[in-house]
Amino acid sequence: MENYLKEFLELVKVHRFEELYSKDITADSYFGFPLRSIVEAERRLLSAEEPSVAYLSMEYGLGTSIYNTFTSAKPVSESNILPRQNIFSNMRIRDYYFTFRIDHRIMDLPIYSGGLGVLAGDTLKSSADLGISLAGIGILWRKGYFKQNFWYKDGQVPEVLNWDPYSYPGLIPLDTVIKIPLRDGDLLLRLWKYYVYSFDKKHVIPLTLLDSDVEGNKPEFRTLTDQLYRSDNSYIKIMQRVILGIGGIKALEALEYSVKKYHLNEGHAALALVQKAGALKKDGLDSLEKDFIYTCHTPVAAGHDRFPIKELEKILPGENIDFIRNNGLEGEDTANFTQLLLNCCNHVNAVAKKHGEVTRLQFPQHADKIQSITNGIHIPTWISGSFSDLLKKYQNGTGGCASGHAELADLEKLRNNNDFRTDLWKAHQVNKRNLQSIFENWDIRENVFTVCWARRIAGYKRPSLIFQDPRRLIDIANRVGPVQVIIAGKAHPNDSLVGTFINNMMNTIDSLGTQGSVLRIIMLENYDIFFGKTLSNSVDVWLNNPLPPFEASGTSGMKAILNGVVQLSTLDGWVVEAADAGIGEIFGYRHNTGEPIGNELDLRLDSDSGELYNALERLTKLYYETNQNGNFNAGSKWIDIMINCIIQSHYFNTCRMVQEYRDRMWFDKN
Ligand SMILES: *Cc1c(COP(=O)(O)O)cnc(C)c1O
Repeated sequence: MENYLKEFLELVKVHRFEELYSKDITADSYFGFPLRSIVEAERRLLSAEEPSVAYLSMEYGLGTSIYNTFTSAKPVSESNILPRQNIFSNMRIRDYYFTFRIDHRIMDLPIYSGGLGVLAGDTLKSSADLGISLAGIGILWRKGYFKQNFWYKDGQVPEVLNWDPYSYPGLIPLDTVIKIPLRDGDLLLRLWKYYVYSFDKKHVIPLTLLDSDVEGNKPEFRTLTDQLYRSDNSYIKIMQRVILGIGGIKALEALEYSVKKYHLNEGHAALALVQKAGALKKDGLDSLEKDFIYTCHTPVAAGHDRFPIKELEKILPGENIDFIRNNGLEGEDTANFTQLLLNCCNHVNAVAKKHGEVTRLQFPQHADKIQSITNGIHIPTWISGSFSDLLKKYQNGTGGCASGHAELADLEKLRNNNDFRTDLWKAHQVNKRNLQSIFENWDIRENVFTVCWARRIAGYKRPSLIFQDPRRLIDIANRVGPVQVIIAGKAHPNDSLVGTFINNMMNTIDSLGTQGSVLRIIMLENYDIFFGKTLSNSVDVWLNNPLPPFEASGTSGMKAILNGVVQLSTLDGWVVEAADAGIGEIFGYRHNTGEPIGNELDLRLDSDSGELYNALERLTKLYYETNQNGNFNAGSKWIDIMINCIIQSHYFNTCRMVQEYRDRMWFDKN
């Protein structure tokens, strides 16, 4: 066996190596994974010949319990294990007596809040699968996002999340500390590393994380990287962007990475461009425009960063301010980071075809350069064990990333194969029984129709739409067949409008009772990647009801279709591109091409919930025609819909998506 340890320690200056990590990083092992792959990745990033890409993102969703699971010689600290969970349901006595805990599973690396982070994590994984030389840059959130409690009459009650980065397998601090000179003193940032391996473990993407909790920083600097997306204080909000953008560039320099292209995942990282511009002469701007790629993820106004120039002036040096004034000024005294990036990057993209259309409407003066690259999911992360086995049996596995998983389209050939149809249903029932066992104290059942809404709780996503007229829900459950509803998601702690939604939803659930056991509703705390996977692969129907056209893409439905879970969705985001493929029921308000974007607060709850219940009733009926208490009808149209869903995954995956970024944005010849 070759020994890579010496070279690794030369390339990566691990802080407190002997004391903390010498048992986990050995001759050719990095927390149980091949150390050699890291050494090769680090070498490639140093090489001037290699066309390497830097990817900057405020958040990364890396659910280590479901993929890339490192092992450690040290016991994992209790604070890094998934917490005990409460349920708020319409079976309140059960909520009172029971909590549950998923057996000793490590919590996700707590540096994300939702879909944007999950996409960034999946992007790193597929880049590794494709053997691309890429360096991820992010922030080590010392208190994560937050821990969520649902309390009756209080709604969502956030709590500080405490975790221990020094005993999180795969995460290591470096000796390297960088310095950002600011108006009110130097800000120090320690670098950390986390490594994201490819499916075959031969390739690695190094993810460098910035941490302001460094000795030598003044106290108000030390807490800047505590909580992701703090928005109650504009100084902290700006400083978090300073850390990602300016700190990100300085970190790449300190690591001596030879970077050709900079990909800014959302406008949060805009100051990276400002920092690079500062080092260039005036005529250098042209090359800068070619080297930066900007992906815009939101059609919601609040999603675009705007700051008073006055506030920026208190923090940044004059040359940075001049650049921002010249390139990103809105009105007289506001900096608009989206405008800045649209003005300065040649390569700009939206994250689904529909979102491209909407973004061009919002920014007509930049319409020419706004492309669309539809989001995806990393298939090996999100496929359930039973579906992976099913594909192995009929197709020799899910194929590789290089093919973009095109082989999933071949499932069409198995459509009329009765064995396949039966095995497909059996694979689904394996996942459903897993759900039943997790929620056994709430009597969730394998042969009862189950629908789930789970994602970030934001107004335009309309979490409570299915409770708009509870009488309709009760009527379906009584007349057509019993219904189980699962709801999960976190709301931004400062979003008071959404707080009201949550409260109303809880009041409704409390008032319903189980209607003689035909209706079970479960609201789950602390939605995360582990539950994102468990729920999206095990329920019968995935509910997605954003108000069009405010969902840029959405990805949770992609996790569901991969596992044959039928869609009940409005026509928005990625769904527009799959709507003709027979993946379930599409309902509700439609935004037509070219129409004004409308008001994201006009939620159309009454009209759209009416259509939701009609579609839900059709699906409930079809479900019970397919599965009567375990008596299964393989000829049912339901099975065809499931097959249509899985086939669509040949497109909605990050292998296809990263290849598009590679060919159209990173290494575009123009
Ligand atoms: C996939 C995922 C999301 C994204 O859900 P959308 O429906 O795309 O909004 C959010 N949170 C977690 C934990 C996820 O796994």
